[in-house]
Amino acid sequence: MKEISIDNIIYAMGEKHNAPAEHVQQDELFRVHTKDASDGQYKPGTTWNDCLTWNHKRTNPATGPVYIHGAKQGDILAVSIEAIDVADSGYARCGKNKGVLGDTLHGGQLTTIPIENGHAIYPGVKPIPLNKMVGVIGTAPAESREILCVEPGPHGGNLDCKEIKEGATVFLPVNVPGAMLSMGDLHAVMADGESGVSGLEVVGTVTVKANAIEGRDWPLPMVRTNTHVITLSSHEDLDVAVKAAVANMVHYLTKFEGFAQYDAVMLVSLVADVKICQLVNPKKTARVEFPREYLRNQDIYAEPS
Ligand code: CA
Ligand code: CA
Repeated sequence: MKEISIDNIIYAMGEKHNAPAEHVQQDELFRVHTKDASDGQYKPGTTWNDCLTWNHKRTNPATGPVYIHGAKQGDILAVSIEAIDVADSGYARCGKNKGVLGDTLHGGQLTTIPIENGHAIYPGVKPIPLNKMVGVIGTAPAESREILCVEPGPHGGNLDCKEIKEGATVFLPVNVPGAMLSMGDLHAVMADGESGVSGLEVVGTVTVKANAIEGRDWPLPMVRTNTHVITLSSHEDLDVAVKAAVANMVHYLTKFEGFAQYDAVMLVSLVADVKICQLVNPKKTARVEFPREYLRNQDIYAEPS
């Protein structure tokens, strides 16, 4: 299996970047080694007093880009997350001007959190089960643009969506030949919102494979889990992100599933939970989770109904 090492760190997604770190075939498994969101500044035992720097241009780095053979502009790249493996410890942090309560904090704290037997060992509480996820995953944006890895958007990026987990498939746009897929910023544990500014941030690896799908007009990015199809949207204003995520799901249900507009709006209101991925990135991310059991095309790769 091809291994993409952390020698291939990027801080922005875009075709102006270096040549591809690696080329892979469609359906070829490959493993991506990722740094944590501190870009390697954190070491076990690091504390707040070590004064790590959190420049937006350097945080949440990704590893890549990987050129997917046969992925052409206008396709959708379906990235299957086969496995997420994390180090045996990581950190969480909060502090002044960071996160939802940053304006109420004067100092800060950075805590090393060991991981044992599939659980995070946070001091003073019972072990927390891991929900390993990929915080940053994206393709090169269109038109020679570069987007910092810390930003989420239609190309993916720093979505911090806890449903981007083992067994999930992430659907991303192919804006340039080969798609130029990158990922990083693993979390061993994170709650919806990531309200304090971090999850349990860890070094690790992601084992994935990617396929290009032709001829789909899906609102991207999207995620499919074993149970749900999920639309996501990101914006500085959370209300705008929520509205766009709902509109994206209605678009999917009407254009691909064949539901009438009013039925789609009503069904989303009845069965699809609207949730917050994160509140702490330059753009906030909302998502809508539609249970697959109510879809007409149970196989979402199927032809439109
Ligand atoms: Ca992140
Ligand atoms: Ca993070």
